Amino acid sequence: SAVVVVGLLGLTGLIGWFLILDIRRRTAAEEALRVAQQQLLDSNRQLALLAKKDALTGLANRRCFDQTLAVEARRAQREGTSLALLMIDIDHFKRFNDAFGHVAGDACLQAVSTLLATCVRRPSDLVARYGGEEMAIIMPATDSAGAAVVAQRILARLQQENITHPGSPFGRVSVSIGIATGTSSRLEPVLGLVEAADAALYGAKAAGRNGFNVHPADVTSGG
Ligand code: GH3
Ligand code: MG
Ligand code: MG
Repeated sequence: SAVVVVGLLGLTGLIGWFLILDIRRRTAAEEALRVAQQQLLDSNRQLALLAKKDALTGLANRRCFDQTLAVEARRAQREGTSLALLMIDIDHFKRFNDAFGHVAGDACLQAVSTLLATCVRRPSDLVARYGGEEMAIIMPATDSAGAAVVAQRILARLQQENITHPGSPFGRVSVSIGIATGTSSRLEPVLGLVEAADAALYGAKAAGRNGFNVHPADVTSGG
């Protein structure tokens, strides 16, 4: 019977040992799964951020601009606040590329973008690359006087920055800015605002560039 007892004890020990090994294996597998899950969450978060960013300038991209403008236009309508839009276009940028090449042109675009980002203060303001060398700033709860202050700040900062541009009559990189504001609409608030800011921008170009121009009407009121 002693042999049987020793045999049974040995068997129990062996089973216990296998159980411990199995628990260890499971714990290790669970830990690996947890790490993989965290990595997946991190990459998802990064992807979501990348999907909103312009690759060259790091500003919000066109998709993010369109989405934000639609959301903010609805909010402005709901809350009866003024939504301001600035369209900013680099002056004579083709000549800059012709003089220094596209790599330098890209670096100039990055410098101007960085500068624009420092010119807005509120967390709700969005600076985006609209396309090419054209940038846009969405400013919720801002009237045309407030938007003009930001436009003036941008022009002043660019003057300080003094980026050489031999093809420009100013001898340095400058921008023209069109401003439009809107509060409520029964028609197409978003399109109306972009079109008005664009029209104002071309007014600023026609007036000699390196300046800003405010669209005279609250373009989206009434419809
Ligand atoms: P204006 O003062 O009337 O705005 O003149 P402009 O030369 O800036 O305007 P135009 O629209 O004729 O030219 C825009 C130029 O911007 C043409 C294109 O080569 C340049 N451009 C657009 N996107 C990029 C970019 O991503 N990188 C570089 N390097 N150049 C770009
Ligand atoms: Mg231009
Ligand atoms: Mg342009």
